[in-house]
Amino acid sequence: MRIQCARSIVAWPQHSMNILTHLQELDDLIVKHTQPPVTTILRNKLAFAIEQAQAHSAAVERQEKTLATQIETIERLMKQNQELVAKYEHPDGDRCPFCHALAGRLKRINPHPALGPAGLNVGYYKCQHCGKDYDKNLAGPRSISN
Ligand SMILES: [Zn+2]
Repeated sequence: MRIQCARSIVAWPQHSMNILTHLQELDDLIVKHTQPPVTTILRNKLAFAIEQAQAHSAAVERQEKTLATQIETIERLMKQNQELVAKYEHPDGDRCPFCHALAGRLKRINPHPALGPAGLNVGYYKCQHCGKDYDKNLAGPRSISN
């Protein structure tokens, strides 16, 4: 949720660009449609507003860079944390092909339907993290079930 919010803030500089464009257009309109000394008074006032908008735009750009870095860091740390939690909860877990947590628990091993006689087995797993079932080929002549 928090990450989603941070991403919407990233759209700010586009707004600032729009404001600067509008202020520039306003300046052009003042030049075109007013007479001195009104022209100078309005343009001086507008110049201050443009300066403020530019400073704001630069500040927002810096914030955007900071936020982008923070989003990347948070996403990396969340993934790392998820892996560590899964590893802690299921220390001997197999890597789940769906959620990639080390939380796959071997439920049973059967001989491979075709290559069983050649010593190949199929391991049937259930992921303790995402709950999905999966299987994979296992070499070696053994057979368990539970
Ligand atoms: Zn999983």
